[in-house]
Amino acid sequence: MAAVKPLVVFVLGGPGAGKGTQCAKIVEEYGFVHLSAGDLLRAERASGSPDGDLIQSCMKEGKIVPVEITVNLIRKAIEASGKGKFLVDGYPRNEDNYTGWEKYMGDRCNVGLVLFFDCPEEVCLERAMKRGQTSGRVDDNIESFRKRYHTYINETMPIVKIYQDKGKLRTISGLPPPDEVFAEVKKIFDKL
Ligand code: UDP
Ligand code: MG
Repeated sequence: MAAVKPLVVFVLGGPGAGKGTQCAKIVEEYGFVHLSAGDLLRAERASGSPDGDLIQSCMKEGKIVPVEITVNLIRKAIEASGKGKFLVDGYPRNEDNYTGWEKYMGDRCNVGLVLFFDCPEEVCLERAMKRGQTSGRVDDNIESFRKRYHTYINETMPIVKIYQDKGKLRTISGLPPPDEVFAEVKKIFDKL
C-alpha cells in the first residue's frame, strides 16, 4: 500500500507578523506539528553544528541561510515526528528556498496551501522590539529588523506571488489581536 504523503502548510509573513503565535493556536485546535524554520536553525546553531557561525551571521544580517542546511533540518524533523500534518513556519523565504524545496522535498510532501499574514512594517517592528526584551534573539534589534524586512519585501514577496498565481495563497491580516486573527485562520482550516 502506498503511504500517504505528509501534508505541509507553509506559513509566511514579515518578521513579527504573527506566524509563530498563530501556528501555536493551529497546533492546539487542528493537531498539526509546528516546524519553525528559524527555530530549527537556532537549535542547530545551539547544538554546536559546524554551520552555526554561518547561521548566526545570516540571522543578524537578515539574510537567508543556504537551502541545503534549512531543508535538511525540516526533512529530518518531518521524518522524526512520524506525523502527517505540518506547519512549516517562515519558509520558503526566497528563490533558493523555493527551488530547494522542489528539488529535495517536492516528491515527498504535498503543499496544501500557503498561509500569509499581512502586516505593516511599523507594527511588525514594534512587536519585534517588544519580543527582543525577552527573546535573546540576535536579530530582534532595530538594525537587524530593518534588514530582515528588506529581505522579506525583496526576496520573500516574489515567492508569495508564485503561490498566489498557483491559487494556493490564503491571505489574512496580521494586524488585529491574536484571537481575531485566529478567527480568520479557523475559516481556512475548517475547510482543509
Ligand atoms: N531563516 C533562514 N531561512 C529560513 C528561516 C529563517 O535563513 O527558512 C533565518 C533568517 O535569517 C531569518 C531568521 O532566520 O531572518 C529568523 O527567522 P524566523 O522565522 O525565526 O523569524 P520571524 O519571521 O519569525 O521573526
Ligand atoms: Mg517566528
